[in-house]
Amino acid sequence: MYPVATPIGNLRDITLRALDVLAAADLIVCEDTRITRKLLTRYGITTKTVPYNDHNAQRVLPNLIRRLNDGDSLALVSDAGTPLISDPGFKLVEAAVSENIPVYPIPGANAAIAGLVASGLPTDSFFFAGFLPPKQGARRTRLEELARIPGSLVFYESSGRLAASLSDMRDVLGARKAVVAREITKLHEEAIRGTLVHLAEIYEEQGGPRGEIVIVVGPPGAEIVSDETVEQAIRDALQTMSVRDAASEVAAQTGRARREIYTMALAISGADSQS
Ligand code: SAM
Repeated sequence: MYPVATPIGNLRDITLRALDVLAAADLIVCEDTRITRKLLTRYGITTKTVPYNDHNAQRVLPNLIRRLNDGDSLALVSDAGTPLISDPGFKLVEAAVSENIPVYPIPGANAAIAGLVASGLPTDSFFFAGFLPPKQGARRTRLEELARIPGSLVFYESSGRLAASLSDMRDVLGARKAVVAREITKLHEEAIRGTLVHLAEIYEEQGGPRGEIVIVVGPPGAEIVSDETVEQAIRDALQTMSVRDAASEVAAQTGRARREIYTMALAISGADSQS
C-alpha cells in the first residue's frame, strides 16, 4: 500500500517515484477520481481509480483490505498534497497496518511544510494544528490548549474564516509574529507577514483573500510587546534585581534582544537614581 503525495497547485510538483508508483499500481484509491484523473492524464497514466472518502470509507474499506491481502498494490492519493494530512486515508492505513500489510509512503508536496519553510518563523520545533473548529467558542478553547506549545503553530484555514480565526488568535495568543501564506506554488502565491495584531486588522478590514491559506504563528515568548510595556517590566524587575538580571529577565519575558533591554534598563535605572 502506497500513500502518494500529489501537487498542491503546480502540477510539476510530483516526484518521479510517485509517477512510477501510480503507473504500476493495480488500483489508485482517490479522494475524488475526477480531480486525480486530471493529474493522471497529464502524465499519461491509465491505472484504474476508485473513490475513497469520508462518506464511503466504511463501505469500501473491507474490499480494499481484501485486495491488499490478495497481493494487489494500491496507491492512495488525495485531491492535493499528502493524503491523511487533513485529508482522507487514515482509516485505510490504520486497517492495513493492523493486517500487517506493508505501507510505503511516497513523500512529496504538503502545504503545511511549504508554508512553514517559507514563513521565516522557527522551524526547529513546530506543531501542525490542521483546521481550527468553525464555531468561535470551540476555536478559542482549542487555541488556549495550543498557547503553551513551545514551537511554531501551523494551521490550515479557509478564506471565509481567516479574519475570525486571526482575531481569535490575536486575543488568545497575543501579538506573536505570524504569516498568512496563500496559494503556495500557484499563480497568485503570496506571504503576508506581521504580528497577529496587524494581520487580524488587515483581514478584519478587507475580508479573507481568495484561495487556499496556511497560517504559521511563531512560538510563545516572541510576542511583539510595546515599548511602554517593556519599560514597565524593566521598572518592576529593577525593584528586586540588578540591571543585568533585570535585563535577562525582561528579555526572556518579551522576546526582545537582551542587549537592547540592557541599554534601556541602564537608562531607566540611571534616570530613577537621579530623581
Ligand atoms: N493534504 C493536503 C496537504 O498535504 O497539504 C491538505 C489538504 S486540506 C483539505 C486543504 C487545505 O490545505 C487548504 O484549505 C489550505 O489550508 C491548505 N492548502 C492546500 N493547498 C494549498 C496551497 N497551495 N497554498 C496554501 N494552502 C494550501
